[in-house]
Amino acid sequence: MNFEQAKALRIRQWRDTLDDQNFRRENPEAHRSSLRDLSAKLAEENLIDRLEQFDMDEMANAAYWLAIEELHANPVVYRSSYGYDVMPRGGGPRLGTLFHSVLTLDGDNASEVRGFNGKIYHTENGLELNQDYHHLHGTVEGLVLKLKDGRQFDLVETKGMVQGVIYDKIDDPDVYRWMTDLIQVATENKLLKILLRIRPFYEMARFVQCPTCLDRFGKREDCGPCAGRGFVEKPLVPEQTSTGATVSSVQDQCN
Ligand SMILES: [Zn+2]
Repeated sequence: MNFEQAKALRIRQWRDTLDDQNFRRENPEAHRSSLRDLSAKLAEENLIDRLEQFDMDEMANAAYWLAIEELHANPVVYRSSYGYDVMPRGGGPRLGTLFHSVLTLDGDNASEVRGFNGKIYHTENGLELNQDYHHLHGTVEGLVLKLKDGRQFDLVETKGMVQGVIYDKIDDPDVYRWMTDLIQVATENKLLKILLRIRPFYEMARFVQCPTCLDRFGKREDCGPCAGRGFVEKPLVPEQTSTGATVSSVQDQCN
């Protein structure tokens, strides 16, 4: 392999990471730092110059800001690094737990489904639950697991992982309020360092912005659904909203 081939291969690796939408949405901070690690390595090995590295890092930043924008519009996302309780819709005992996308059934249910354990995979059809890679058993939409036999389960977030450390969900409304205000200021002023530190914890909260008053000053005070707090309990099924933005359109804005 000559220099040009080696360079093309490594840049393609970087590009594939940039285009990995699931990675970007599930963990924008890790997505950005992976891209920056790759470009730093390329520069270190003199496969790219510092200017090229700078441009690539700007694209990584643009992808990060896009993820923030998308998550703001649609904050309910299945995350493979999270832990979930798998609860039957409409009540009943827990089926099991999901952690790092591995389904572990509770003891009482194991015999009923003959010890079935599964894993959630990203496929071209979305998120699918498989016993093995070839045998589909269900799908995940929003935070609802739909089994092939028609049963549906809510995936209730129980814990999250930030930089390899497991944390419990944040259920203190005052902490959520504090983070909301901080993140708003950091986003408006493009204070990247603050966002990188705080945001992974923010999305581990049990709350989201109130869809009725949008936490707007003047509307919030008289809002019934959130009782004036500006936020509500996180819904399990995301609303079908999208900013319609793409990485390239954000890049255009940045150029
Ligand atoms: Zn409200």
